[in-house]
Amino acid sequence: MSTAIPAAQANIEQRFRKAASYPRPQPPAFASVEEERQHRKQKLAAAFRIFGKLGYDEGVMGHISARDPENPNHFWMNPLGLSFSLITADDLLLINLDGELVLGEGFPHPGGIPLHSAILSLRPDIISVAHTHALYGRTWTTTGRLIPPSTAESAVFFERHAIYDSHANGEGDNLVRALGNNRALLMKNHGLLTVGQSVDETAYLFISLEKVCQSQIAAESIGSTETMDEHQARRSSERFQAYSGWLNFQPAYQSIIKEQPDLAGRNALDIRNPF
Ligand SMILES: [Zn+2]
Repeated sequence: MSTAIPAAQANIEQRFRKAASYPRPQPPAFASVEEERQHRKQKLAAAFRIFGKLGYDEGVMGHISARDPENPNHFWMNPLGLSFSLITADDLLLINLDGELVLGEGFPHPGGIPLHSAILSLRPDIISVAHTHALYGRTWTTTGRLIPPSTAESAVFFERHAIYDSHANGEGDNLVRALGNNRALLMKNHGLLTVGQSVDETAYLFISLEKVCQSQIAAESIGSTETMDEHQARRSSERFQAYSGWLNFQPAYQSIIKEQPDLAGRNALDIRNPF
């Protein structure tokens, strides 16, 4: 019996190594910048449709942006007043970092443009920004507390999110300074904001963070909660990379494009199954 335990341990490690060596789905490559642009706009329209289904809209509040792949000083975002649940890739407006409408028909979003242009100007590594007043996120922000690493999902945000009072300090450069190198902001008494290196990552982080807030509110309503060990939480947060965010968005994307193919607009690319 004394030799059985090390042998079993070796087998487990071997299985982990084998499992880790399998290839994984990868983001697509593009034949042209036009194709990449359409792909990005489709992903952005899909993110809106998913946010709509999940009930993240609140009147005309809320916006998601995507930096243009050819002109990094331009970004695509939703027009004011159009339902998240109806947006197509053709409805998106092209705005420059000075806040000017460059292309598209519809009403530029007066609340969204300053926020997105500030972040995309000062953080060239960020491709996409999402902000809405989704219910559980905005409710959690009233606590004025960071989210404790209670679950694997909340640990993704461990030491990678911050609290910001947008009512007192605005939604421009001060907000970008508060964002720092984080992947999310809890905008106090207001809502959530996430950023990422792809629309996929930004949208996944937003959906996950909203659920994290819901989960934490539920856990605290039961009574006292236990958090993860700090080292474990840090490890989880560090292991989550831009690729993780991209990958985790794909199931939601596959479902929405199959269910609502019109979201892709007139120049739809066949990216129903990117694998
Ligand atoms: Zn807002």
